[in-house]
Amino acid sequence: MKLSSIGEFGLIEEYIAPEFKNLIQKHMTGIGDDCAIIPVGKTTSHLFTTDMLIEKTHFLREKITPFQLGFKSLAVNLSDIAAMGGKPVSSFLSVGFPEDINIKWVEEFMRGYKDLSQKENTPLLGGDTTKSEDKIIINVGVTGEIQNGKIKRRNGAKEGDIICVTNTLGDSAGGLQCILNNIRISESNQKLFDQHLTPYPHVKEGQWLAEKEEVHAMIDTSDGLSSDLMHILKASNARAHIDVEKIPMTKELIDTAERYNWNSLEMAVSGGEDYGLLLTIDRNAFSSIKKAFIREFQKELFPVGEIVTGEPKIQYLKENKPIEDIRSGYRHF
Ligand code: ADP
Ligand code: MG
Repeated sequence: MKLSSIGEFGLIEEYIAPEFKNLIQKHMTGIGDDCAIIPVGKTTSHLFTTDMLIEKTHFLREKITPFQLGFKSLAVNLSDIAAMGGKPVSSFLSVGFPEDINIKWVEEFMRGYKDLSQKENTPLLGGDTTKSEDKIIINVGVTGEIQNGKIKRRNGAKEGDIICVTNTLGDSAGGLQCILNNIRISESNQKLFDQHLTPYPHVKEGQWLAEKEEVHAMIDTSDGLSSDLMHILKASNARAHIDVEKIPMTKELIDTAERYNWNSLEMAVSGGEDYGLLLTIDRNAFSSIKKAFIREFQKELFPVGEIVTGEPKIQYLKENKPIEDIRSGYRHF
């Protein structure tokens, strides 16, 4: 049997996770959420997450500057801490570099990594450095902390909850399409490039949302709305109705997609790497949380649908009628 026949999540669920069931102690939360959680004492928990970026799979060396790659390598990890509502504490950086990599490239990579480290006050505390045959390989691990009662998991969604996102969707997918099609950066698509190459993790937003007990479930949008929402639905054993007309998209995405005949809605629903937050909020608290969120961050909290009962599935609706033809999110293998 080939890896491609079971996919990334099948591999984790069937062949990686079960091996460790009896070693995981009761108080730990392991594989299956954005971070692992280990309580320390009665009030606090430590969070751990790690993510890898491999040349040609996650980035093309000639299409991203080393500064941007350094920034993004940390950003995608901080985004998983944000997804739990945590505060980042430290990072670990392991690199495999081909011998011919220029020292100037490494300097710029570290400048980008340090830029976000400083902005989010997260020191680099360790890592590993090895030679790689031809590809650049980057693995970052981040630790974080959070008070026990405030942790937001994927499994808390309840019937009637409003499903929201903290940023517009699809910009990163639009940026990637521009890059793959050798489209030049211009005023009309700059935002798409920026979102793809230097996404800013919603760490502050995550910590703020963690303070609200009416926020029931949270995940970051790394694989695309359709894929990331399914994680919440499976973990919470619930179904979702998504109103496609409410899916927030920037003018830059809509205009660029129109110009090159791309499907902007499909990019917003299935495209990955937006690195915002996707959460469910008790419907009675939704409007007050939304107002307070706008006051705090001077930006929107976008409602896109609601949680309903039923088996895990996303039902997309247009003018209240079901539609079926939106492709699902990005999967490795
Ligand atoms: P995310 O997109 O939030 O980074 P992933 O989809 O990569 O999460 O992973 C889903 C879950 O599976 C996470 O809890 C992650 O820690 C776990 N996981 C992924 N790959 C492995 C692996 N090789 N070994 C152990 N756990 C893994
Ligand atoms: Mg995640």
